[in-house]
Amino acid sequence: MKYLSVLVTLIFMLAVFAPNTYAKSTLSPLKSTSSPFDHPISPNSEASKLPKEFAPTHYPDVNQYIIQNQIKHSKVVKDSRMNTLPKLPYKYGTYQGIVIHEVGEDNSTLTQWVDRMYETYETAFVHAFVDNNEIHLTAPAEYYVWGAGKEANPYFYQIEVVRTYTFDDFAKSVNNQAWLAAYMLKQKNLTPTLADDNEGIGTIISHNAVGKYWGGTDHTDPIAYYAKWGYDMHQFFDLVNYHYNHMDAV
Ligand SMILES: [Zn+2]
Repeated sequence: MKYLSVLVTLIFMLAVFAPNTYAKSTLSPLKSTSSPFDHPISPNSEASKLPKEFAPTHYPDVNQYIIQNQIKHSKVVKDSRMNTLPKLPYKYGTYQGIVIHEVGEDNSTLTQWVDRMYETYETAFVHAFVDNNEIHLTAPAEYYVWGAGKEANPYFYQIEVVRTYTFDDFAKSVNNQAWLAAYMLKQKNLTPTLADDNEGIGTIISHNAVGKYWGGTDHTDPIAYYAKWGYDMHQFFDLVNYHYNHMDAV
């Protein structure tokens, strides 16, 4: 499904952007610098024939952007359906860390993801979904969820970030994810440590690192999606620490 949606997106982008590029280069082949909106490269070069969206984009530093703009976490909403899910006791009574996910598909809103989760919970469900304006709790923290394979599930609280499409929205969504992760660690007096760098041992772990070190799953989120915005698990971990250190004891 993931590849299909990527393919559909690519075809769509080609269909939408290719005619413009073609029209521009045939109608004004000599006016390469006439408009401030034109690409600075000659219209006949290979690079200029690519739709703009394929060019490498350099974003500001996400964490600096969040801190400099004093972006606060969004409202926390508890879903009324959360107690209808299976009640699965953790291996050691409570969670030992947090699994970091991203949903893996474009074009669905947080509400759609959450509704879909309750419809298909027999396949998978997680503790929370976040986007740029909401932290939506979907399962009680007291029980484990099915989000990262049977090896790791009984040990972790699990948070999904929903895809967004502007840098500002991405920064806000990942800030919500990091804040909730820090908050959940603080609840249990767990110190943030990055399991991705320590063979899977630690309190913050990507779904990718679960697959690599724990097994039971072959997903690689959120690595590629984060990378799209110039972000990675080290930066995410720094942001969790930032919130953890600025959070009152609970
Ligand atoms: Zn995942």
